[in-house]
Amino acid sequence: MNIHEYQAKAVLKSYGAPVAAGVPVLSLDDVQKAVDTLPGPLWVVKSQIHAGGRGKGKFVEAEAGEKGGVRLAFNKEDVFKFAEQMLGKHLVTAQTGQDGKQVNRLYIEDGADIDRELYLSLLIDRATGKPAFVASTEGGMDIEEVAHDTPEKILTLPIDPMAGVTDKDSAQLCDALKLEGSAREDGMKLFPILYKAFTEKDMSMLEINPLIVMEDGHLRVLDAKVSFDGNALFRHPDIQELRDKTEEDEKEIEASEWDLAYIALDGTIGCMVNGAGLAMATMDIIKLYGEEPANFCDVGGGAGKEKVAAAFKIIMKDPNVKGILVNIFGGIMKCDVIAEGVIAAVKETNLAVPLVVRLEGTNVDEGKAIIANSGLNVIPADDLDDAAKKITEAIKG
Ligand code: GDP
Ligand code: MG
Repeated sequence: MNIHEYQAKAVLKSYGAPVAAGVPVLSLDDVQKAVDTLPGPLWVVKSQIHAGGRGKGKFVEAEAGEKGGVRLAFNKEDVFKFAEQMLGKHLVTAQTGQDGKQVNRLYIEDGADIDRELYLSLLIDRATGKPAFVASTEGGMDIEEVAHDTPEKILTLPIDPMAGVTDKDSAQLCDALKLEGSAREDGMKLFPILYKAFTEKDMSMLEINPLIVMEDGHLRVLDAKVSFDGNALFRHPDIQELRDKTEEDEKEIEASEWDLAYIALDGTIGCMVNGAGLAMATMDIIKLYGEEPANFCDVGGGAGKEKVAAAFKIIMKDPNVKGILVNIFGGIMKCDVIAEGVIAAVKETNLAVPLVVRLEGTNVDEGKAIIANSGLNVIPADDLDDAAKKITEAIKG
């Protein structure tokens, strides 16, 4: 689960990280409060969407001369003006897709005088199986680009979970970020604080881009992007409350309500499967036959007829779906239950695209009979290869 920048900063602040004073703005009425609370002389008006690259983004509705989703205001009038230009508008960034995302919230912050912009993140490093810091002096820009062009400018430092962040670790990070004087003192305090927040709150990623050295020599968290491990959210009701469903794919929300794993992709074939391994195999073989999956919905091990029907309907909601492949191995799951769910959903949605169903395992004969006797236009398949061939041919008409 992702949260907004201003929420992430509040979490980090509660652990003692240095963040600027700021006021979240949900409607234009809140702007007055922001300028009353924040002393100036510099304010930053920041669009809050779950996507990066806001500063370089562009509003669909923008008039000539208006700039990105993060703007510096040197007087109060500009704070109001920028807020009006952002709130309710659609911001397009490198991460949003071409339609952009509607900005429903702003964050107005006390501006900082920046000396240097650094990059710092914490994530789970799969290679070492440990949390790891990633640090670079090249902050404020695309870290993937830095990793590609100048990998020597990035330090990846795994942390021993038994020891936590040692002074030696912190010193190494300070060296990598070239921190001196008060910035170094701030760094020595900041790294253990971030690590504590990361582990206690079950974050899967914490990215600060940029972490800045201010002209007064101190460090400040200028941007913050946090993702939480969905499997641990039950332990954090306070974090669950930060969820902003308007930022999430409607289909993914519906899927999570049915306890289905739904993933949206870019292709044209909708896939209903059970189990992650079968999902991967199904996508591989669709690609082998020259097509791309539009999504996959994993109904898991013990779904009933209603859940199968719900999964089918969620897949159907994607307008890019030109055909559907149901690929189920009945273990605990019974093929006749799957067949009934599929038939019910096909009838209810007046399915207009080709549907290939491949069933194998428990009660497979009953399942196949239900589909054959349904009178509906469902293409049966015998195995995975046959199924992929049939659906890719069917969508070509
Ligand atoms: P992003 O574009 O979505 O990553 O948003 P950021 O929060 O990282 O802001 C983008 C850029 O705006 C930063 O890299 C800074 O250069 C600039 N910026 C943000 N806040 C301030 C501030 O308080 N003072 C100054 N001078 N620049 C800022
Ligand atoms: Mg940033």
